[in-house]
Amino acid sequence: MAPATIVAVLGYVSLRQWAASAELLFREQARDVAAMAAEKVEMMLRHTEDGFLDRLQARLASGGGDRALDELVAQTPLIRRLYVFDRGGRLLYPRVRRDEDAAVVTRLVAEVSKGFWDRGGKREIVAGDQVYLAVMVKSRDEPVLVAYSRDLDVLRRDIFEATLGTLESPTIVAVLDQEGRPVYSRAPLDRAERVLSVAFREGLPAWRVAVYQPPGASPRRAVRRQVAVFTAAFGALLAVIVAGIVVTWRLMRRETEMARLKSDFVANVSHDLKTPLSVIRMFGETLEMGRVTDETGRQEYYRVITRESERLSRLIDNVLDFSRIESGRRTYTRLPTAVEPLVRETLEAFEYPLAQQGFKVEARIASDLPEVPMDADAVGQALANLIDNAIKYSGDTKAIAVEAAVVDGRLALTVADQGIGIPAAEHARIFEKFYRVGRSETQGRRGSGVGLALVRHVVEVHGGRVTVESRPGEGSRFTLWLPLAGHA
Ligand code: ADP
Repeated sequence: MAPATIVAVLGYVSLRQWAASAELLFREQARDVAAMAAEKVEMMLRHTEDGFLDRLQARLASGGGDRALDELVAQTPLIRRLYVFDRGGRLLYPRVRRDEDAAVVTRLVAEVSKGFWDRGGKREIVAGDQVYLAVMVKSRDEPVLVAYSRDLDVLRRDIFEATLGTLESPTIVAVLDQEGRPVYSRAPLDRAERVLSVAFREGLPAWRVAVYQPPGASPRRAVRRQVAVFTAAFGALLAVIVAGIVVTWRLMRRETEMARLKSDFVANVSHDLKTPLSVIRMFGETLEMGRVTDETGRQEYYRVITRESERLSRLIDNVLDFSRIESGRRTYTRLPTAVEPLVRETLEAFEYPLAQQGFKVEARIASDLPEVPMDADAVGQALANLIDNAIKYSGDTKAIAVEAAVVDGRLALTVADQGIGIPAAEHARIFEKFYRVGRSETQGRRGSGVGLALVRHVVEVHGGRVTVESRPGEGSRFTLWLPLAGHA
């Protein structure tokens, strides 16, 4: 988690810095583009207008009348309206006035100061919604004041389009008038984001060149996208780390639990082995010392020794089989087997403990059972484990029923008892290896916790399953379900 946090913080900080510097760089580039565009426009405009002024001056010098000037204006589409004043502020051209001229002329005359007459040069004057360029031009004898306005369409087409239309830039360059309205733009401006604008230095007073960012292409948005991608990637990383921690933690818990179960298992098995052994030994010694004089007594002793050693074998078989299953070395040979003898033989092996503890035993074996393909040893062992459990976990009512029947097209082998029962919550877990129910209840009873794991393995190998119905205090009913036909 710590390295992930550090990576996240560093990543975020560097992304922020990167975003800031990208923004700065972008603005600088935009400013360069705008300045260059302004310069190009100014150059082109100056070039066109200087040419016009030169020709005007030539015509004025040669004393060309109104006709000559009319002709010149007609030749220069950029010039919309031209006025020529003399020093006294009298309008020399045009002689033919239009209605609009009066106001403009008054304004122009008022705007041109005496200083301008003396200094000469160029000035921009706004009259109405038009910009007029006022220039002092040498005439034949004394300078005259020339003022002209430009045709906006021609300005757009011949100046802006000619200069800005060819500009190589992913941004949109536009020209804004004194009110900030776009007069010209290289591409539609809707939804475009204005980056910055710079003023023209000459020729177009209060007009500006603006640089726009086409929608969706702003570096800010690109950076935002990067940040989002990074955040998502980091989120995924974090999720993986958290998942890893959870999985590791669960695995660790399982391993600890398994280790505990295994150590319990060793203790339980050793204890399980010791009990029959000490019984055998005690009975053997008694016999050896000749303490049992009558024949019936001796027979009883022999029987006990045989049963206890059978029990011992079963126990050892269970443990050995379990270890074989664990290592995958357990093999099964399935042959058609008569069910009834198998059940009876298995039950017989428990005759002694059942009789000794006063069990009421019931065997309900259907008479018409077919031969079922199975590994008789394995199924016998599974059944024996169930019977052993029924005895082990019995309560005050000592009763056990073993049933064999065909139910729903499967062989059902059932072992039912009226013992301590199993809480519903434990039903799934009791088939896990080493698992033993609530330790206080089972404490008095010996067991290794592998019996039912073995049972489940055996039936599953046969293509069947094992079910349990049980309630605490009411007894348990374990059923082995085996398919009648051979399992592939
Ligand atoms: P164990 O060696 O402990 O008997 P098993 O795998 O045979 O191991 O059984 C697992 C657990 O299931 C037992 O510890 C016991 O708590 C419970 N159990 C199994 N059979 C019965 C039964 N017939 N009645 C009550 N509880 C049972």
